[in-house]
Amino acid sequence: MNSISGKVFIDWDAFAARLSPVEVIDEPALVKKRSRDFFWYSPILNEALKGCFGDLVAVPKTVEEMKHCLKVAHDAEVPIVLRGGGTGNYGQSVPVEGGLIVETTSMNRILAVGDGFVNTEAGALMADINRALKATGQEMAMFPSTQDIATIGGFVAGGSVGIGSLATGALREPGNLIEIKALSVEKQPQEHVFRGEDVLKVHHAWGLNGVITEVTLRAVASRDWIACMATFDDYRSAFGAGFAAASANGIAPKMVSVVDARIVEYFPRLKGHLSEGRDLLACYVPAEDVDSVRALIADQGGRLELTLGDEDREAAGIPHVFEFCFNHTTLQVLKSDRSATYQQVNVPDPSDADALADLRQDLGDDVWTHHEFIRLGGKVVAVDLPIIWYSGKERLDAINRTYEAHGCSVFDAHTNEVERGGMHTADYTHLAWKKRLDPKGLLNSAKSAAWHQVKHLTADEIKAKAVT
Ligand SMILES: Cc1cc2nc3c(=O)[nH]c(=O)nc-3n(C[C@H](O)[C@H](O)[C@H](O)COP(=O)(O)OP(=O)(O)OC[C@H]3O[C@@H](n4cnc5c(N)ncnc54)[C@H](O)[C@@H]3O)c2cc1C
Repeated sequence: MNSISGKVFIDWDAFAARLSPVEVIDEPALVKKRSRDFFWYSPILNEALKGCFGDLVAVPKTVEEMKHCLKVAHDAEVPIVLRGGGTGNYGQSVPVEGGLIVETTSMNRILAVGDGFVNTEAGALMADINRALKATGQEMAMFPSTQDIATIGGFVAGGSVGIGSLATGALREPGNLIEIKALSVEKQPQEHVFRGEDVLKVHHAWGLNGVITEVTLRAVASRDWIACMATFDDYRSAFGAGFAAASANGIAPKMVSVVDARIVEYFPRLKGHLSEGRDLLACYVPAEDVDSVRALIADQGGRLELTLGDEDREAAGIPHVFEFCFNHTTLQVLKSDRSATYQQVNVPDPSDADALADLRQDLGDDVWTHHEFIRLGGKVVAVDLPIIWYSGKERLDAINRTYEAHGCSVFDAHTNEVERGGMHTADYTHLAWKKRLDPKGLLNSAKSAAWHQVKHLTADEIKAKAVT
């Protein structure tokens, strides 16, 4: 068997045989399919990554099988990329250096559900975790809109916030991630257990510094969630109402999103349910808060058009409302027109709707804003995930500069280096743990520019950089 990636020239048939009894996939078309994630949201990443493939896929079913995969790859010095559902947006699970893809979706047992927590294997799908929790009157404290295909291991390694984050904060905030178990890549892979704030040593490291096998997460009491959709004459009013709903005393939403009217035209499944040409506010609130939301929307000059429990929503043939929010907004547009892309931008002061209206004027007609309200450190913040009609890197850079001139921080969605995206800087704590758990640097190393500058140092020397 030849190298599919064209980068790792070993005897792949012999390597696959050594992986036995672990299931492997060597059919080139299937290996290539599993080498992709949602990087194509970005024309820049699409150009850079569309030709990057792994050489073989392993699908372990147990921790013992996972250890065996890691040992075999370690001994052969083969690059490894972990893959859950492959829904990351920045090519996090693309095997840029070729080598072995280890897919976790068969390690999917939900091990325990208790009061306020769920303990599960890393490959469990979040929709399945939510189903198991529902039987106990609970739900995940937050989950991404990709819950049907994304794994909890992928969310913990690659994600940050989701539906629920307006109530419970980001994944990294205390109490949301209770425990992570991760394996090292060594001759004899070892299990490491991270609890309390130590979970941050592994969380959001893009699978660079250990292989997550098990996660214990916060669960919260489920509510009778009602999806509300209101429309407004203008975006400024919709945004102002969004901030008011997100921060009101007496309303406890788990999600509030505001979407430009021009984007809403790309939601065919909402056609006939909403007045056309109006900016949208979508939220989930507990049933007992719907009257307060109705009053708030009226007070802010909006029109509450839909209030849907799950049964009504299904009867009306409308998908979950979160499928029009977070990064699903971008997906709905991309389904019709691949020339769209997006960006990730922090709003400096979400209470200032006038400042936002000024920014929108400066952005121009090729940028259509869409905001998510979330809670960070107890404070309501707004994140813009705008649709951008891509006309080249120069224009994208100019758009970023316009945002920055208005005091916004841009978390670049067009890079597949962990330091250049949401983090803005190298995380030397992550890299010190990479040195400890992955001394040969086999795990997804192409995704960290900083790793290549420090890999010759000891773990303690790398850690020391975190405090200088
Ligand atoms: C439409 C859409 C909506 C989205 N919405 C959100 C959102 O609301 N919030 C959010 O945070 N993200 C969101 N994302 C990004 C992504 O869906 C989530 O982060 C998701 O949870 C990733 O899970 P996955 O199983 O698909 O991970 P993958 O894409 O397979 O992997 C993600 C990263 O984790 C690593 N990894 C996977 N499993 C392991 C493991 N067991 N051990 C170590 N490393 C591992 C991979 O190597 C990769 O670096 C969205 C993406 C799309 C396309």
